Amino acid sequence: AKHEGRGAIRLFTSAMDQQLRDRRALEHDLRLAVERGEFYLEYQPQHHRDGTLMAYEALVRWRHPLRGVIPPGEFIPIAEQSGAIAQIDDWVLMEACREAASWDQPLRVAVNVSAAQFRRENLDAQVRRALRESGLPAARLELEITEGVLIEEVPRARRTMQSLKSLGILIALDDFGTGYSSLSYLEAFPLDRIKVDRSFVAALGQSERSLAIVRAVIGLAHGLGVPVLAEGIETEAQMSLLVQEGCDEMQGYLLGRPRRLEAAAEKVRRAAS
Ligand code: C2E
Ligand code: CA
Ligand code: CA
Ligand code: CA
Repeated sequence: AKHEGRGAIRLFTSAMDQQLRDRRALEHDLRLAVERGEFYLEYQPQHHRDGTLMAYEALVRWRHPLRGVIPPGEFIPIAEQSGAIAQIDDWVLMEACREAASWDQPLRVAVNVSAAQFRRENLDAQVRRALRESGLPAARLELEITEGVLIEEVPRARRTMQSLKSLGILIALDDFGTGYSSLSYLEAFPLDRIKVDRSFVAALGQSERSLAIVRAVIGLAHGLGVPVLAEGIETEAQMSLLVQEGCDEMQGYLLGRPRRLEAAAEKVRRAAS
């Protein structure tokens, strides 16, 4: 038994070694990925409840030369810990603004902001530069910020948001309901939109609690005069329940999966050739 135990420990530690080596390798590759042009953006549509297409959310993808496409849930946490996130954030903001500026319809683009990016001193300068260099009108850019980053340091977060708002861009609160928000605290921020986290949408129709939460979020947002967008909608049942509850906007696989969007110029070029 003693023997087996040691064997098990050895197996265990070698599995940990392997994991650590994998991670180191990914960290290394991540540092080079921006320069090598391995990132690209997919866009997922956001619709008004009446069916009108309003906006696209930009979602980053990493095309790893050996491992194939890696989703953000796998590399963003590593990038955040290794410090590579700043470079990725800069690239995403610039690329999303550039691509959106070339769409044939003047739709809004929603860009996710990492906690690290929100905490940086120069976020507003960066946004200003992205708008200037891309030519995208400020009103067509929305930043999605998660609840977590707001709670950390309320006065500072409010200043950051106010300076962003003064540029004319919009701000959405992402993943709402997963943190610790209260009405009084939400009132402190100049929000243009609240996104209900998809975990609540997924549970709609199965749990009374999730319906109660969705209903409360909609009531709260409307009390503040802010529209609510529900994300992660996969079924007609979820959709009609949300419409019935007064949800304003919708996003999810039912309406459209994230995908590459070609620029208007690209379409014209292709049609001509
Ligand atoms: P998120 O901001 O909450 O984005 C929504 C995620 O839900 C996306 O996953 C999207 O593909 C997925 N999704 C959309 N509709 C459905 C649906 O109907 N069903 C299901 N099951 N999933 C749906 P994705 O692209 O893997 O992104 C995961 C997270 O990674 C995002 O969550 C966001 O927090 C982060 N992320 C993505 N792109 C960026 C980026 O450019 N910068 C930063 N900082 N974070 C990003
Ligand atoms: Ca988001
Ligand atoms: Ca979200
Ligand atoms: Ca999320």
